[in-house]
Amino acid sequence: APILHLEQVTKSYRSGRFCLHNVDFQLAAGTFTLLTGPSGAGKSTLLKLFYGAEQPDRGQVLVQGQSVNRLQGRALAYLRRQVGVIFQDYKLLERRTIAENVAFVLAARGLAWSEIQRRVPAALSLVGLADRGNCFPDALSGGEQQRVSIARAIVGHPRILLADEPTGNLDRHNALQVLKILQQLNKKGLTVLMTTHDPHLVEMAQAPVWQIKSGRLSPVNNRDILIQP
Ligand code: ADP
Ligand code: ADP
Repeated sequence: APILHLEQVTKSYRSGRFCLHNVDFQLAAGTFTLLTGPSGAGKSTLLKLFYGAEQPDRGQVLVQGQSVNRLQGRALAYLRRQVGVIFQDYKLLERRTIAENVAFVLAARGLAWSEIQRRVPAALSLVGLADRGNCFPDALSGGEQQRVSIARAIVGHPRILLADEPTGNLDRHNALQVLKILQQLNKKGLTVLMTTHDPHLVEMAQAPVWQIKSGRLSPVNNRDILIQP
């Protein structure tokens, strides 16, 4: 069964036109997939459906075979454990250290202190920031801050990582580094769905690409994406 699944999903906002129209979409566990399309096409919205931040007008949104259409309270909290999310703007707590930022979710979940102390350094090592735990976010570069947000997203051992334009604020070098880390996590079994509108990154990723356009979702042949000189 697919780990992420949209069945005949339609989503519009009160203000406007359809953002997703009768969309069918399935991803197998362990895959790495890119989602592209023009700004405002509905890429963030598609991810939001999967982490329970938006509800479809019609159709079914399933994560690991479970409908997440209208989750609230405990059920929503449980979904959030299965699904890590990262954003273009990192969303770190500025007045907390890097280690505290990563520990926060585990503490909120009631994990034992000893377990938190074991997991936080392990997660920071995976993103190459083992030695920065005591820094504050503003001491780090944008690329490093995004890597902290990746550590925070995976420290709870989710099966799925949704990345919403994670390289949007980064230069090419840092964007590639973030891509590499996401692909390494994918090799360890994490299912990754990432949005981007950067054709260079699409080319470097060598991964299946889907495109949203005018409410429709369709697979893209990598060679169809032209790199601007
Ligand atoms: P993308 O991530 O591809 O840029 P979004 O999913 O953010 O696209 O947005 C898709 C469309 O839905 C856009 O036209 C956007 O303005 C609109 N939209 C997104 N969120 C809301 C909202 N909360 N209320 C009303 N309209 C929204
Ligand atoms: P531990 O039990 O110490 O956390 P694991 O072997 O389970 O040991 O994970 C090692 C590191 O991998 C963890 O610190 C964690 O941050 C990271 N990790 C967590 N979830 C995943 C995942 N789904 N895929 C890959 N790595 C993950």
